Amino acid sequence: MVQEHDPHTNDHHNHGHAHDHDNHLGPTAARVRALESLLVAKGLVDPAAVDAIIDTYENKVGPRNGAKVVARAWVDAAFRRWLERDANAAIASLGFTGRQGEHMRVVFNTPEIHNVVVCTLCSCYPWTVLGLPPTWYKSPAYRSRVVVEPRRVLAEFGLVLNTATTVIVRDSTAELRWLVIPERPACTETLDEEALARLVTRDAMIGTARVDTRLAGGPDHPPDLHEPSA
Ligand code: FE
Repeated sequence: MVQEHDPHTNDHHNHGHAHDHDNHLGPTAARVRALESLLVAKGLVDPAAVDAIIDTYENKVGPRNGAKVVARAWVDAAFRRWLERDANAAIASLGFTGRQGEHMRVVFNTPEIHNVVVCTLCSCYPWTVLGLPPTWYKSPAYRSRVVVEPRRVLAEFGLVLNTATTVIVRDSTAELRWLVIPERPACTETLDEEALARLVTRDAMIGTARVDTRLAGGPDHPPDLHEPSA
C-alpha cells in the first residue's frame, strides 16, 4: 500500500544514500503508517482487512492485467511487435493506463536470453500491469544482489538457468519501467488467450520465475533472500 517515496517528486537516481533509504520512512509513508495505527487503535479499521486489500492489489488484480498483456503477446504477433515498438500504446489499447505506468519497455524472454527486472535504487515498478511491488522487490538484498550475482539470486527463487542462457538485468527507474514477457510454455497450443493468461504469474513478469503450467496461476513463493555479503 505504501511507497517509500514517490519517484516522480524525488530525483532518487542522483542522491547519494541510495542503499539505506528503505530503512527510513519517507514523509508520506510515515504519515500513512501513523494514520493506519490510529485507525486500528480506535477500532475503525481491522488490520486483517487492510492486509487483505494489500494482498488483492499485490497478488490478484494488478498482475492479472500484466498476464493479459502477456497472453495477447503470445497469441498475436502484431500485438507483440506493437509492444516492442511502443509498449505504452500497446498496453493502453487493453485499457491499462495510469500512474506509475508511464515509460514502459517490454522485453521478451527466450531460451537464449533471460531478462530480470530490479530497481536498484528504490522500487520503481509498472503498477498498471503488475500492481504493487512485492516486499522482496523493495528489499536491499534483492536490489543489490541481483545485479552482482543474478544467477544465484534466481536460483534462490527456484529458477536455475542453463549456463548457455545470457542473463540481462534491467534496471527500472521513474523514467523507464520494464515488463518481462516470459516464454510461452510448451504444450499450451490448445489453450485460448484467457486460459493462457491464467498461467502467468507476477514473478514471471519480473523475470524471477518461468511460466509453469503445473502452477496454473498459483501463488508466487518469495524466497528468503540473504543479505548481500560485504
Ligand atoms: Fe526506483
